[in-house]
Amino acid sequence: MTRLDGNALAGDLADLFQVDLTTALARCAGCGRAGEIATAIVYASPMGRVMRCPTCDDVLGVFVSADGRAWFGLPGVSAIELPAEKP
Ligand SMILES: [Zn+2]
Repeated sequence: MTRLDGNALAGDLADLFQVDLTTALARCAGCGRAGEIATAIVYASPMGRVMRCPTCDDVLGVFVSADGRAWFGLPGVSAIELPAEKP
């Protein structure tokens, strides 16, 4: 398993949400840390990627893709903050 940072999820997140979310703030449900997704710790393996909080090491999210389908869960994220579009 390879340890990376949250930038390793850029392709997964862009595929799912059609925008680059690595600069979005994710709040950890475990410790309350709010930081850019790019600063999370990512463990990558051929089966998928696990995103962990760099402060408390709780699992923030899991990303798996196979057979042309993708699954993700954000069990340890209590909120995601994005810039709001200006009117
Ligand atoms: Zn945490």
